[in-house]
Amino acid sequence: MRLSISDETYDYIVHLLNLNGEVMGEFIVDGNEMKIIKQSLSEGGDNCRVRPNFKDDDQAPEFIFHTHPFSCHSDIGHGWPSGGDLVATLKYARNGNKIHLVFDTTGIYSIQVIGDVSNNVNLKELARKLDKAPKDDTPECRDEYLKWVNDIGLFRVKFIEWKNSEFFII
Ligand SMILES: [Zn+2]
Repeated sequence: MRLSISDETYDYIVHLLNLNGEVMGEFIVDGNEMKIIKQSLSEGGDNCRVRPNFKDDDQAPEFIFHTHPFSCHSDIGHGWPSGGDLVATLKYARNGNKIHLVFDTTGIYSIQVIGDVSNNVNLKELARKLDKAPKDDTPECRDEYLKWVNDIGLFRVKFIEWKNSEFFII
């Protein structure tokens, strides 16, 4: 899928990344353009683990994002999706979500579930496995992380630097 981000949306994401705490919300794809639905935002405040404003058992939006803002970097360490983010993405995919984007200060991570979205995957076991992900905060380690997480075979995770975010394919 090809997505584009307008200057206006980019500026809005920069604003979100400067807020105190994570933000989660929904976007739509209009043509190829990603548009954030501002009314859908839920804010984590000081808590760097934002919750969506839909329940676990509810139908999930097709397109979801959350932020890894500057204010949460001491909690997050590296900016890539946490094990919790990936487990949550599998739950959302079971309820209809197609793409989960993570806006980090360094770029965008896109997460799609390509493996078994049925209830066969044990979420506790998956969480334990994901805890072993590479954790250093370097670009080399990011590549190692992406390979590691994609080799599990359940997710497709991609990283797009902000400078390449005007048009990108996920
Ligand atoms: Zn996260």
